[in-house]
Order: sequence, then structure tokens, then C-alpha cells
Amino acid sequence: MPQHHDVGSPAGRLSLHQVVGLSVALGAASLAAAFWFPGAEGALFRPAPVQGTWLLAALAALTCAAELVAVRVRHGDDAVEELTLLDGVVMLNLLVLPVRQAVLVSLGGVLLAYTVRRRPPIKMMYNVGVYASGATTAAAVLHGVSPVGAFDVRLVLGLTAATAAFVAVNLAHMALLLGAINGAPVAETLRQDATLAILTVLGTAALTGTVLVMAVQAPVLLPYAVLPAVALWYSYRASAAKHEERRRSALLLEYSQVLVSGPTRAEALLALLSLLQEQFDAAAAMALFDDGDGLRIDPRTLELQPVVTGPGHHRLLAVPELALLPGSEAPFGWQGALVAPLTIDGNRVGAVVVGGSGRVRLRQRDLTAISPLAGSLAVALQNADRLARLVEETSKLRSVVDQAGDGIVVVSREGTVQLWSPAMETITAVSPQAAVGARLVDLLVAEDGGGEPMDPFAAGRRLLSPATPQGSVDVQLLRPDGERRSTRFIHAGAFDGEVLLRDVVIVRDLTAEWQAERMKSDFIATVSHELRTPLTPIKGYAQMLRTRGDSIPLEKRTRALEVIVDRAEHLGRLVEDLLAASRIAADHEPTHAMATSTADLAALARRACEDFPASARRIDLQVPADPVLVACDPTRVVQVASNLISNALKYSPADSAVSVTAHTRADLGYLVVRDHGQGIPADQIERIFDKFHRVEDPMVMSTGGTGLGLFIARQLARAMHGDLTGTSTPGAGSTFTFSLPAVPPPGEDPPRRRAGKTLRIGAERTMGVS
Ligand code: ADP
Repeated sequence: MPQHHDVGSPAGRLSLHQVVGLSVALGAASLAAAFWFPGAEGALFRPAPVQGTWLLAALAALTCAAELVAVRVRHGDDAVEELTLLDGVVMLNLLVLPVRQAVLVSLGGVLLAYTVRRRPPIKMMYNVGVYASGATTAAAVLHGVSPVGAFDVRLVLGLTAATAAFVAVNLAHMALLLGAINGAPVAETLRQDATLAILTVLGTAALTGTVLVMAVQAPVLLPYAVLPAVALWYSYRASAAKHEERRRSALLLEYSQVLVSGPTRAEALLALLSLLQEQFDAAAAMALFDDGDGLRIDPRTLELQPVVTGPGHHRLLAVPELALLPGSEAPFGWQGALVAPLTIDGNRVGAVVVGGSGRVRLRQRDLTAISPLAGSLAVALQNADRLARLVEETSKLRSVVDQAGDGIVVVSREGTVQLWSPAMETITAVSPQAAVGARLVDLLVAEDGGGEPMDPFAAGRRLLSPATPQGSVDVQLLRPDGERRSTRFIHAGAFDGEVLLRDVVIVRDLTAEWQAERMKSDFIATVSHELRTPLTPIKGYAQMLRTRGDSIPLEKRTRALEVIVDRAEHLGRLVEDLLAASRIAADHEPTHAMATSTADLAALARRACEDFPASARRIDLQVPADPVLVACDPTRVVQVASNLISNALKYSPADSAVSVTAHTRADLGYLVVRDHGQGIPADQIERIFDKFHRVEDPMVMSTGGTGLGLFIARQLARAMHGDLTGTSTPGAGSTFTFSLPAVPPPGEDPPRRRAGKTLRIGAERTMGVS
């Protein structure tokens, strides 16, 4: 029967202290009541063999002995319940001694046992309090029901009721205590222990009655009373073992749940070591590894701590096989040690060690429990290592896929996308979320070189065979946003025999390469066309002068020479532009040495207009009365303005007007050239400032040009800390705006400079094209 209870960790919990306080207070009150007990001067029975002081001493010794042979049952981590024969002995004391003596002898025996077992004072106080109230209550019941010296049914009833009262008081206290420690509901504890309590009451009452009858009537038979006592004690042991078995199963279940969850190394170690720690109430539970690592469980926080290995640990690691070391061989002052080797793939990697504490002795049969646990830990560690390696490998592969500039797609045998790298999203504008699980043919609008619709997967599939598992197909992709991309699908098939398992496709975006390639060929076509155009009249006139020079009238000859000089100059400008462009591209410093001075942008615009005498009629120049003063290199400004006016004349109908205006706004001076020509498509308006870019197809070329003018013009504008931008309405005309830092007229405050501009006004300085 739950006779008394260990208070495992009484400190720190108020409610626990309250429970202890309550027991002590009730015990003290009961003791006081025992001394005042009416009619308790005499005992109910007087046993024949021993009397007087001997009887007191014998019963105190018996009480002490009953308390010492206790069967422990653990409730959770903190509470220990002990099943003893003590209640039987207390009942015997109450039957053969007057009440006061009986209570005092019972408490004295218990205190003696506690002193022998060196119990902490708080536990003594608690348990003595519980026994005092239990024994006094039982005495009241016994004396109330049973008559003095009569063996009849009232004795049986009294004895049973008194034992029940004693057990009930104990049980109530224990339920309160467990409630305080584990938070277990009091009613639940009472319900769980009720069966055991009833059986104990019956067993104890029967045993006590039997011993009493023997002691009074036939003391010579007393030794036989040991037999039922032993039987009762063994039934307690069986009950405790069952209890312990349940606890162990619960812990093992918890551990196996951790194992099946695919734990990490730390989780697997933590689960096993805390199981061992609890299971064996161990001084230490640790896993030591041959490579010098070690982890132990902190018994209080149940967290893993590293072990700083020393000679003691090395001695444990040197134990060759599953072993139980006696206290004399165990290190660290342990009362024994269980050592179970950890073996992975037949190789020993370390050992699981449980150090025996003073409280629990490790036994040989514990070895059989720890061995399979160590085995399962080894498997879990191996799995965790494999998993960690797998995760690492996968994350390496993942980062390759994620970082790769080329798109990577894995397509199943059926053509369904299994993997879609981030670069694929950049190339196709289709997100991985949308792609994975969909069929490749449904995701992409693809065309072959001839503009025919195609299925990139099927096209690849046709190329692949187990003998030649690789092949590439060029695919034109039409993205959902309308953009067109030139790509190459490089297929690599994984085959199982003849069956294609999956197709791993690297998708390379060749758009930029092909554009560069096209630009190169466009450039060659353009430049050769531009060079040939002036060469034709030069060659024609020169030949004419050589063959018929003398016969040609002077006027015509002069005209021919003028054309030759004009075209040669044009050729020179062309070559200069080419050189300028290549210098800018190579980022030579300073590319354009230019002088900075203050000039009137309106006057410079007029000069530029005068470069086009043949088109003077078309040019409408509007400038303010006041000069538009800017900081610039005047020659370069004329060059930029001429280029803009020349383009406006060239790319608009021969009779349409071109307006040229100049003005100042804020701290900038502006030159604006506007035409009513064919305009520029919106997607090309920025690209016309790229080198060699021409809107017109070079194969058609109704107008001449290299595509260098605007590129050079913008670079020059920026080198002068200004800018050149364009806007256009296709079919209606284009406007180009050339801005330069304004210079205030003399006497005015200089305008605020924009951040980063360092142009010094009026000073001569050299600037480079950025
Ligand atoms: P080029 O005139 O020698 O071809 P530019 O760099 O001056 O070279 O111009 C680049 C392209 O921009 C031209 O080929 C033309 O297609 C387009 N462009 C420039 N100015 C205009 C304009 N005013 N109207 C229409 N298109 C223009």
C-alpha cells in the first residue's frame, strides 16, 4: 500500500510547501488528540510472549524493519511512493498497545528507519506528519468499533475499518502531494490507486488479524506469520514492477517515436540519453565517441552538454564489449557503470554509458535493456549522418541550379516539368511555381528557325537515344510579355535501357549573342555602304578628269574637283566618327579633349543651321533675344547640333519643316530640334543612341548613315556635363533635346549646381568623355 512518500524536490514550489505544511500541522494536531484520547489507557489485546518494555522495543524494531524493506514506485521524476508492510505493523501496534504508546512507538520506529536511511529532514517531517494523522485516525476507528480482548466479528470490522482509515489518510496526502509536484488531478490519483488501496486494506487487515490471533492464542506459531507477510511483500514487488514496466514502456514509446521521426544527431542523442537518465535515475548518462567527442545529459535541465573527455572517459571507451562495471571499476565515484558499445556498419565508434547513482543499483539485467537501445541509437546516428550528408549534397546541387546563368529544366518521360531553375524564369518569364507539374509544351510558345511552331521537348526527344543521349535544338521563344528570345535547348537524356527516364535540359539564352552577331554584320554592311557611296563620285570624277581633263570646260572641271573634295571630306568625317566611336568604347582617357568656355547656344545653333544651305528653306530657327549662355566646347556643340539637324532633314519628307529652338530653364540651356518625319518606334527610342544602331534595315538602306551620329553626340553632350534625349511619335515626328549647364549673365548669382557637377565656369579646362 502507498505508505509514505518521498518528496523529491520540495524546494522552490509554494504549493508543495503548503502540502508539507498541511501534513505537519495535521500530524501535530493528531498527536495532541492522541494524548487526550478518552479511554485509551489500556490496550485491546495483550500478547502472551513479550510484555512491558520488551514489547515496546520489539514493536519499534518491527516498525523500523517494515519501513526499511520498502518497495519503491516512481511517479514521474520527482515523487517516489513506497509500498511497505508498515501499515500492518502500525495496526498491530494499535491492537496490542495503549493508543498513545502505539502512536509513539509507530512514529519512533519510522524515525529510526529514516535516521538509518539518512532521509532529508523535510521528508521526515512530511512522512511523520502523515503517519501521525493516519495512526490517530485508525486508533479512533479501532477503539470505537472493536471491544477489548474479544475475537469476534467486531474485531474484524474494526480492524478493516481502521486499516481503511489509515490507508485513506495516506492516499489523500499522496494525491495532494502528486498534485503539487506533477500537477496530477487529485481525483485521478485517488481513482488510479483505489484498487490497490482496497486490496491492501484487505491483505493488511487479514495479516494483522492472523498475527494478532497467533501472538495472543498460540505464540509458538508466530514464525508462520512471516509467510503471509512475505507473500504480501512480493505482491507489492509485483505491483511496483508492473508500474515500473508501464513507465518504461511509455519512455520507450516516446523514444521510438523520436526515432521514427528521422531525428537529427542531436535529437537522437538527446532522446536516448534522457531516457537512460530517467530510466536508471543515473549519476550520468552519456555518449562517448572514439574521435574524442562526447555528450552527456544534464539531469536537471535534461539538455545535452559536451563532455570534456579525460582518463576516466578513456577507461570507459576502452571497455571492449557490453559490460556492467562494479563500483570498484567504475570511474568518477559511480556506484557502477553500464557500458554499451555503439557500432556503425560493424565498426565501433563509441559507447553509451550509464553511471550508477547511490540511489539505484545497476543490475546485470539492465544490460539487456540498454544493449538494443544503444543499437538503435547507432542506427539513428548513421541515418542522421546520411541525412545530413544528403541535405548538404542537395543544397550544393540546389545552389548550382539556382546560381546557374543558363536555365535548367528537368522534364519527365511524359514531358512534365519536374524542375525549373530561377534562370528559366528570367529567360521565359514563366515562374517555377507555374512551371513545375505542367507539360513543357503547354508552357512555352516556341518556333523553329523557319518560324514554324514546335514542341521543344519532342524535338529533343527525337535526337536522344541510349547511344547518343545528348543533342541540342535552337528554339525561338515568344514570351508572354511579347519579347522574343533566341535560345538553344541542350538536351541530356537519362535512359534505363531503351527507356528515357528524364530529360535534363540546359537552356542557353543566345539573344544577346545573336544580336551582337547581327550588329556586327549590319555594321560591316553599313560601313561598306557608307564608304562606297562617296567613293563612287570621287572615282567617277577623277577618271573623267584623267581621261578628258583638258577637253572639259574650266567651270565643269572646278565643279568636279569640288565634288571630289566634298566627298573626300565626307569620307574623312566618316573615318573620324568610326575612330571616335572606337575610342569611346575602349574608354581611352581623355577621349575628347575639349575646351570649356562660355558660349551663346543660340549663336552656335545658327552656325549649325548654316551648314545646310541647301535646306535653308526648311529650317525654322527660333531663338530668344537674350543670349542662351552655356558652359561648353563650342566646336563640339556645333557638331552635335549639326548631327541633330542633319538627322531631322534626312528622316523627314523633303518639303517638311524642321524647327530649331534655344532657351534657358532653371540652370540649363536647351537646344531643341523638332521634325515632322517618320518618327521612331517607342522600343527603339533609347537604342538609337547605341553604337551602330539604325532603325532602318541595313539591307534596304534608303538613307545613308552609320548609326554612330547619335551615339557620339550623346557622349559629347555628357562629357560637357549636359545630356541628349529624344522623344518621338511614329508618323508624326521626333524631338531631340540637347541640354548644357547654363551660365548666368554677368552680374547675376550663379545658378545652383546640380549634385556632382564640378564644371568651373569661365575657366579653361579639359574634359574627357565619360
Ligand atoms: P545615322 O543617322 O548615321 O544612321 P544616328 O546615330 O544619327 O545615325 O541615328 C541613328 C538612327 O536613329 C538612324 O539610323 C535613324 O534610324 C534614327 N533617327 C535619328 N534621328 C532621327 C529622326 N530625326 N527621325 C527619325 N529617325 C531618326
